[in-house]
Amino acid sequence: MRIIQTIKELQQTLNQQRQTARSVALVPTMGNLHQGHLQLVSTAQRHADIVVVSLFVNPTQFGANEDLDGYPRTLQDDIDKLEALNTDILFTPSIDEMYPLGGDNTSYVHVPDITNVLCGASRPGHFDGVTTIVNKLFNISRAEFAVFGEKDFQQVAVIRRMVEDLNIPITIITEPTVREADGLALSSRNGYLSKAQRQLAPQLYATLLEVKIAINAGDKNFKQLEANAKDRLTAQGFKPDYVHIFQRNFLRPACDSDIDLIILAAAFVGTTRLIDNLSVNLSIKSL
Ligand code: AMP
Repeated sequence: MRIIQTIKELQQTLNQQRQTARSVALVPTMGNLHQGHLQLVSTAQRHADIVVVSLFVNPTQFGANEDLDGYPRTLQDDIDKLEALNTDILFTPSIDEMYPLGGDNTSYVHVPDITNVLCGASRPGHFDGVTTIVNKLFNISRAEFAVFGEKDFQQVAVIRRMVEDLNIPITIITEPTVREADGLALSSRNGYLSKAQRQLAPQLYATLLEVKIAINAGDKNFKQLEANAKDRLTAQGFKPDYVHIFQRNFLRPACDSDIDLIILAAAFVGTTRLIDNLSVNLSIKSL
C-alpha cells in the first residue's frame, strides 16, 4: 500500500495509474478503522481498479465543544488493517495540506434544507464541514466512485444532494451498517464508552427495532411512536437528542401514505453521542 500525505503526490500517482485507464474508488474516513470501514473498502475494490482510502480527522465538521482533540487516532493500526485488505493507496494529509489558509478561512459547500434537521439541527455547521471536505476529496482524487456507510444516513443524503446540485461526476455507493453481535452499530466513538455504558448502548438499536415492529404492526401515529421511543431511551439512562420517523428518500417527516420509511435516532450515553437508523419498508413486512 502506498501511503501519501500530499495532494500533489496523490494526483501524480493517480494520473500515472489513469494512463492505463484504471478507475478509482474513494473511501473517505476519519480513521480508527473498524469492520464497518473495511466493508466499504471491500465494496470499493469490487467497483474500481484502484482504491484510495482517505484518513483525515476533519476539523471543520466538529463543533467548538465536540471531540476533535480526543478523537481516536490509531494510524499504525489503521495501516495494518488496510494493508491486510490489499488497499492500494492511503491518503493521510495534514490539516495544513487540506486547509492551507485555515479551516475558518476556506471556501465551503453548503447544502440547504436537509442539513437543518436531525444531526444538522443539533450540530450547526457540521454538514458544511462534511460537504466541504468531501467535495475537496472528490476534486483531488477525481474518483469515479465513492463509498459511504448508511450508518451516517443523513450524511449520505446530503452528499447525494451536493453531487446532484453541483453536477459532480461521481457515483455514490452505500453500504449497510455493520453491527456488533448485540446490535450496536460499529463506531469509532464506541471506544469512549465505559463497560457499563457499553452494556447500555445496544438499547439504542433495540429501541429502533421496537419502533419498526410497531410500524409494521400498523401503528402510524408517528409522533407518538417518536415520543415513546425517547421516553424509553431516557428511562434506560440515555439522554436522547432525537428520534424521528422520516420518509426515506426525501428525508422529511413521514406521513400516512409513505411506504419507504426510516427511523433515525441520536442519543448521548454519558458524554458520547451515538447515532443509528433503521429502514422500514411497508411493502415488505419483515425485520
Ligand atoms: P467515519 O470514519 O466515522 O467518518 O466514517 C467513515 C465512513 O465509514 C462513513 O461513510 C461512515 O458512514 C462509514 N461507517 C462508519 N461506521 C460504519 C458502520 N458501522 N457500518 C458501515 N459503515 C460505517
